[in-house]
Amino acid sequence: PPEAQSSHVTLGLTGRPLPTFKAPAPISTHGPAYIIAMTNQKGGVGKTTTTINLGAALAEAGRKVLMVDMDPQGSLSIGLGVNPDDLGGKKTVYDMLMDSTAVPASDVVMKTSIAGLDLLPANIQLSAAELRLAGEVAREYALDRAFESVRPNYDYILIDCQPSLGLLTVNALTSADGVVIPMECEFFALRGVEMLRETITKVKERLNNRLTIDGVLPTMVDARTLHTRETIQAVLDAFGDSVFHTTISRTVKFPETTKAGVSIIEQAPNSSGAQNYRNLAWELVARLESQGSVAK
Ligand code: ADP
Ligand code: MG
Repeated sequence: PPEAQSSHVTLGLTGRPLPTFKAPAPISTHGPAYIIAMTNQKGGVGKTTTTINLGAALAEAGRKVLMVDMDPQGSLSIGLGVNPDDLGGKKTVYDMLMDSTAVPASDVVMKTSIAGLDLLPANIQLSAAELRLAGEVAREYALDRAFESVRPNYDYILIDCQPSLGLLTVNALTSADGVVIPMECEFFALRGVEMLRETITKVKERLNNRLTIDGVLPTMVDARTLHTRETIQAVLDAFGDSVFHTTISRTVKFPETTKAGVSIIEQAPNSSGAQNYRNLAWELVARLESQGSVAK
């Protein structure tokens, strides 16, 4: 694990040793993708912001990334400057989930303003998928099936989940290799995450035995407050080493860049927010490489 690195000199917010992470080494061949579901059934905790900016930081590191909007609100699409209600007749994640033979993922893929970063967009129509899928055989595997054809083309697939543990999120968890759990640092957040952990365990037992928690990510961190530090300590007590060393600071830059439809990596590449997400990408890649989950 990255803990094994030598530079154990700085202490993080809770006094936990803070390793330094290096930019991932370039890779010459791409795919098959490692699939990550960005999940927390609470809204407003930074799932969409993390999907966009982790995706942008991975692309900056030369990885090919596909981002998938699994929220009928379409926030991921909007956050990337795409108007999901006006796609000029282009298909969406909804069509792909309903019949990925007729509408393969490659028909839904859109380029973004960032090289190496593609998007599968969604809009409010996706809210009908939950009901429509409910009566289908292997309804939990619709997304998994759809990924088969695109998985070889990408290094990472990042799924932005909606704030619920319903069938769309279960589809994301069933298709994923790992889960990243963004968590706002306030005390009651922990209880909700316990429920999420139970859902992950069930999906792992019943639907997808490769599923693992890649990491818990403290977001909207205000390092000056004791409350934040205490909450991070409680998260560490509950989740141990799976908590990322990287934390994301609270800054108004995020709402600003979301509105502008770009990532903070593009908009303010030297800001602390961009550095936070770059560091997260570097830590994640180091973690996955050291586990052998992705090739070096
Ligand atoms: P979710 O997808 O979990 O609902 P979002 O990523 O949409 O959460 O974030 C909710 C709101 O908080 C958005 O307006 C976003 O711009 C803002 N936000 C996200 N991360 C931060 C942060 N680190 N600091 C300040 N605001 C943030
Ligand atoms: Mg969201």
